[in-house]
Amino acid sequence: MNICRVGVSIVFLSLLGRGAAAQDRTLSPAVRGFASVTAQTVALTHVKVLDGTGAPARADQTIVISGDAIQAIGRTGEVAIPAGAQVLDLAGHTAIPGLVGLHDHMYYSSAAGGSMKMMLQSYPRLFLGAGVTTIRTAGSTDSYQELNLKARIDGGMAPGPTLFVTGPYLQGPGPGPGAMHPLTGPDDARRTVRYWAEEGVTWFKAYTQISREDLGAAIAEAHKHNVKVTAHLCSVGYREAVALGIDNLEHGMFANTEYYRNKQPDVCPTAGDSAIFAEASLDNPDVQRTIREMVEHKVSLTSTLAVYETSTPSRVAYDARVIDALLPDAAHAVAKWYADAPKARDAVGRAVLQKTMAFERAFYQAGGLLGAGSDPCCLHVIAGYGDQRNYELLIEAGFAPEEAVQVMTLNGARVLGIEKTVGSLAPGMRADIVILSGDLTASPATIRNTVTVFKNGVGFDSRKLIASVKGQVGLK
Ligand SMILES: [Zn+2]
Repeated sequence: MNICRVGVSIVFLSLLGRGAAAQDRTLSPAVRGFASVTAQTVALTHVKVLDGTGAPARADQTIVISGDAIQAIGRTGEVAIPAGAQVLDLAGHTAIPGLVGLHDHMYYSSAAGGSMKMMLQSYPRLFLGAGVTTIRTAGSTDSYQELNLKARIDGGMAPGPTLFVTGPYLQGPGPGPGAMHPLTGPDDARRTVRYWAEEGVTWFKAYTQISREDLGAAIAEAHKHNVKVTAHLCSVGYREAVALGIDNLEHGMFANTEYYRNKQPDVCPTAGDSAIFAEASLDNPDVQRTIREMVEHKVSLTSTLAVYETSTPSRVAYDARVIDALLPDAAHAVAKWYADAPKARDAVGRAVLQKTMAFERAFYQAGGLLGAGSDPCCLHVIAGYGDQRNYELLIEAGFAPEEAVQVMTLNGARVLGIEKTVGSLAPGMRADIVILSGDLTASPATIRNTVTVFKNGVGFDSRKLIASVKGQVGLK
């Protein structure tokens, strides 16, 4: 690091309040080309604010950004606007914290090929353009590419969200997608975790065929390295994973097989049994016990409602933005999927989705830490737009706008352990702020209207980012 950079960092530090680590705002010309607001001091005036904490929305606010941090926030007219600040009149707009996507893969399984391809150019831009400023990749098909992408984004060489890189999936020996390493036992689990923890990943995701023994070994080794573990489970039940010390669980209730009839230890039951969720009752003592034990052990839950809709095609609305983003082959396949969707016989899937929503609401109301992620793996669920769809589905699940924003921002930051600097709008917090045109409290679809996405105090032009990757998803 050269002296000049150190000097700049010290200046930023002295400007910041408690907690906010200085971020490097040095951007390459290529990244700067996507920025629309680059002034050192910016005042966002007359904007409606949902601050990420769950507090009621506040009308006609002014947010002052200085460098990479929020300096002041309050009622317009009561907050001093520093001399020389760039002032943006945002009447008719809403400001929320940058979204924190906890299950936001950097790969897409192209409808044309089915392989898990890294989207190293298109996904970072789509995430950022759609308002997602922090992601955890939640299972990686190529952790080195993710670590190098993170370095490029952090160094201002590529536009994109702040990355929390996950190690390769921790999978058991059964059938699994080809990008996963099937563990051969607890020694292999420890070896794999140790290697990737030393390489710099900060999370692991265990997958559907892992045994309790391997999962326990992986969790213990990860914790030794100050690395955390989440899982998309099947062979292991939620309560078993909680007892093994897991940190986070993915996919709401959908992946919890402990209610299945004849569940055998360490064996993932057949998918056909998932219909059991349609009949599951939240009053069932077993369901209540799952929630209670997760809350008591502070195990967070990731809501992934948007990707569930791949199981309920008949209720999925055509989204031209998705078709625009896909490469021609994938666009063709997904357009056909959309065309067939209204005829899908998916009554069971719809019932499961309703139950999943109710479970997540109950978990949140019981004091559970609920975050969200898009799982932009396939079909119409792609980076950024999937996160926006999550917001709409959380509203459908009964969350108030302020609560849904909290789930998707501050709660995600809490899961990642960065809540002192990221996830809410307050003085001293990092200036990761999404500006939406319209009133988010009046219409959930307002979440799609991203205009400017501030990351580290630099405002990026949402439209420019998205336009730059038109026709690329599935390819790059
Ligand atoms: Zn996933």
